Order: sequence, then C-alpha cells, then structure tokens
Amino acid sequence: MNILAIFAHPDDEAYGPGATLARYALTGHRVSLVTLTRGEAGSLGICKELPAPEVAEMRSRELHCAVKALHLHSLKIYDLPDKGLQHYPEEKGMEIVRGEIAAHRPDILLTFHPGGISGHSDHIAVTRWCEKTVLSLDAPPRLFYYGVSPEMAERIKPYRKIIPFENGEITHVIDAREYFPYKLAAIQCHVSQLEFWESFQKNGAGEHFFGGEECFSRALPRHHTNGVLKDLAL
Ligand SMILES: [Zn+2]
Repeated sequence: MNILAIFAHPDDEAYGPGATLARYALTGHRVSLVTLTRGEAGSLGICKELPAPEVAEMRSRELHCAVKALHLHSLKIYDLPDKGLQHYPEEKGMEIVRGEIAAHRPDILLTFHPGGISGHSDHIAVTRWCEKTVLSLDAPPRLFYYGVSPEMAERIKPYRKIIPFENGEITHVIDAREYFPYKLAAIQCHVSQLEFWESFQKNGAGEHFFGGEECFSRALPRHHTNGVLKDLAL
C-alpha cells in the first residue's frame, strides 16, 4: 500500500497518527509525508525568542529527524505561510495537493479531521484542499481523516481542547501500541515543541492519550459498514 500524509506543520505527523505511520512504514508499505509549512509561527518554548527564519530552519530539521524516527519513505516540506493557510488561495493549495497525488500515486491520502483536531485554521484549510482535490479527480486515492475519539477528547479536556470525531464517524481504529516507541521518538525530535508533550506528561496523560489506538475515518469514498475496521487497507 502507498500512503501519502499531508499536514500543515512540522510535528502534526508525530503528535497525530505517528504510530500508525510507523506501523505501515515498518511493515512493507510506502509512507510519504508532505508538510506544507515550516512552522515559523511556532509559539512554544524557544520559538518565542528566535526570528522566524531561524524557527523555520530549526523546525524543518526537527521534521527530518521525525521522518527518520518513523521510518517514512520520503518527506517534502513546502514553505507556505504558517498560521496563514486559511488566507492562502485555495486553488493554489489544491494545485499542490494535486501535484503530490500525481507524483506519489497513493492508495490512501491521509490528513486531519475537518474540525482540525485542535481547531487550528491551518489544519482545517489543508483538509479542505485535500477533500476538494479528491472530489475533482477521476481516479482519486481513498481519503482518510485522522482524529481523536469523543472519549479521549473528554479525558484530554482538562489539559487541552480537542475537536473530536462525532459518534459514528470513526471507521478504522489502528492498534498502534507496538509502534508507540517510534511515535515517542518522533515527538522527541521536535525539541522546540516539547513543552506541549511535557504538559501532557506532567498530567500523567502522555502515554495514556498518545500511546494506544489511533482513530480514522474513511471520508471519501465514505465507508458504510457496521463496526470498526482494524486496517486502513480494508
Ligand atoms: Zn499543526
């Protein structure tokens, strides 16, 4: 299987479906990552003190480290404006997605849930571009959203607001526990963002929330069967 993940920021892949990406990458599938910004608007830790070009450099290096940690096949980083994707011309965003699909010919295109997980406007814009592009193609890949279950969002709520899947939206749950060490290694590559991870750790929430199963919804074509599947290939 050939999987192409497209996200807005360096670290979305790690804090998002990192264990699932590692699982497929390490079991004979080709998993590629496209990240649309260099994360120069990062507001955690040292990012606050550095000029934007230096933050972009640092976060791009961190992303290369994470891609290695997850054993992904390839990485492409674009330089679109971090925290500015909602104002970026949609047609141009879709052109990038279309070009990456043409280059990778993926079976599966993976991005965040339309709620944006954290509700970040960049995440929401990327999902819209992916969805509209898939709808415009004659032979599109299957589009999957990564997201957080309502139960998990409820547990995280004291520490961070998450926009979860709605009941019934989750079509696939991947047991990625075995691959959690790869995800953790990728999270730790993003040194500039560790404040985020540490806040979860302090609350005893880190492994609990990030270590177990990762949830997905097959959005296009919509998946209609009873029950939840355990493999994105199904
Ligand atoms: Zn993000």
